[in-house]
Amino acid sequence: MQYIPSETLTIDRKARANMPFYDLDLRPPAERRCDFGDVVIDFSPERAMLEAARCIHCPDPAPCMVACPTHNDIPSAMWLIEQGRFSEAANLYHQTSSLPEICGRVCPHEQLCQGSCVLNKHHTPVLCGELETFAVDYKRRNEGRIIPLAPPTGKRVAVIGAGPAGLGCADQLVQRGHEVTIFESKPSAGGLLVYGIPNFKLPKDVWAEKWEEFERAGVNFIGDTYIGKDKTVDDLFHEGFEAVFIGVGSEIDAKMEDTPGTELPGVYEATDYLIRGNVDPDLLPENMRQPLEIGRKIVVIGGGDTAADCLRTSLRLGAEEVTCLYRRTENEMPGGKKDRKMAKEEGAKYRFLTQPIKFLAGPDGRLAGVECLEMKLGEPDKKGRRKPVPVDGSNFIVECDTAVLALGYWPDPILGKTTPNLEVHDWGLISADKKTGATSRPGVFSGGDCVTGPDIVVTAMAAGRRAAWAIDEYLKLTPR
Ligand SMILES: Cc1cc2nc3c(=O)[nH]c(=O)nc-3n(C[C@H](O)[C@H](O)[C@H](O)COP(=O)(O)OP(=O)(O)OC[C@H]3O[C@@H](n4cnc5c(N)ncnc54)[C@H](O)[C@@H]3O)c2cc1C
Ligand code: SF4
Repeated sequence: MQYIPSETLTIDRKARANMPFYDLDLRPPAERRCDFGDVVIDFSPERAMLEAARCIHCPDPAPCMVACPTHNDIPSAMWLIEQGRFSEAANLYHQTSSLPEICGRVCPHEQLCQGSCVLNKHHTPVLCGELETFAVDYKRRNEGRIIPLAPPTGKRVAVIGAGPAGLGCADQLVQRGHEVTIFESKPSAGGLLVYGIPNFKLPKDVWAEKWEEFERAGVNFIGDTYIGKDKTVDDLFHEGFEAVFIGVGSEIDAKMEDTPGTELPGVYEATDYLIRGNVDPDLLPENMRQPLEIGRKIVVIGGGDTAADCLRTSLRLGAEEVTCLYRRTENEMPGGKKDRKMAKEEGAKYRFLTQPIKFLAGPDGRLAGVECLEMKLGEPDKKGRRKPVPVDGSNFIVECDTAVLALGYWPDPILGKTTPNLEVHDWGLISADKKTGATSRPGVFSGGDCVTGPDIVVTAMAAGRRAAWAIDEYLKLTPR
């Protein structure tokens, strides 16, 4: 329900719908490709108020609220921002989201709130994501934020994985007075927010400030602990935890099966490449601290957002020529248009209908090129996407000294293998109830990419929050 019901506002909706639109200010491509700083220039208060005033306040439930996986009360926030009541707007976002300063920056808004904004019909949608970032940053800088805590219940919950799903769950559990300990295999918390999404999309200081909020709320963090190897879920119950949430993501890079040469020096998997290219060595596990050895000509293989992130990271690492190889056409690319547009502006090239079939070594034993086949589009597959079909005898070589494989991700099956009665399916995805995150094992809940497969930050965070509410109910029924 809207905090400020749209029908109580006396506004001229027609005039609003025709107000001029001023696009986001971005740093010029030639400047931004030289560093890892944020690409978007923050809104000023005046600019934020002007943009929020374009909202025509659709009746409850507004399409933007429905499309937001965490159902942010966007129309009310727009009204508060328009009135200059920025902190109140931030409070609204904090009520429905555990990571609004992050979702405001990295959500694919064009597919969610902005994509469903009614202004799309005749005009340009309200920049809901940028306004969320503005309001939440404003409050943090001017007042700070403290997670509100309920009196302690004495109940202890273990959260496995410190990514968006685990954080969403931890946030809601401490707000209900439960003691939370997060077990994480990496040295630092954040999941793919730290060890995946590059700085130019999500500056690390934004994350660092967010994590301080969790620490101040008393969330315990135990890093460098791989559940399934260092200890098991059963061990956690024996240690006195009364419920366990699994939010371990889906982070094993998909391999390029049956393609010779992927072991050559100069061929990297996307995760390793992005982590070592973007993360401060102090935050890296020891086996990842060796700097990347990249050359002048880099190819990135894949068509998703990870591929766009690898292209843009390569440009910032100083490569002269950066090319994406993708086996279908641009129309079939799974990645968002926004990231691809930015990659192109920054100088990345795209070569479509191209399938690598062999990685070739030079005289020094390092990667020197990729043999490829030209493809054409054939019949649609089960999902309706036209299949790429090789053109016989079309072999050609793309010269390169570095190749990055950005082909998608699989879950790590280890928790399914080491946790009795935990049902998993399809390569290790955890079977969990969509509404509650309850798994086949009583007291064990799960959510995020390890349940859905690779998805996005907001859906993982929302799943963690839903599971926290179910864990709270479960704990109320569990005798001490
Ligand atoms: C390169 C890249 C760019 C992306 N860009 C965007 C974007 O711009 N916008 C967007 O919305 N989404 C983006 N995504 C997707 C988004 O990051 C994920 O959907 C989201 O992080 C999933 O959250 P999660 O908590 O389920 O998993 P994760 O973020 O993967 O977190 C899981 C955590 O669990 C830990 N872990 C794993 N196994 C164990 C274990 N056995 N024991 C202890 N800890 C364990 C991991 O180290 C990790 O910290 C991107 C993904 C990638 C790879
Ligand atoms: S759909 Fe667009 S115009 Fe309607 S309430 Fe949401 S942001 Fe405002």
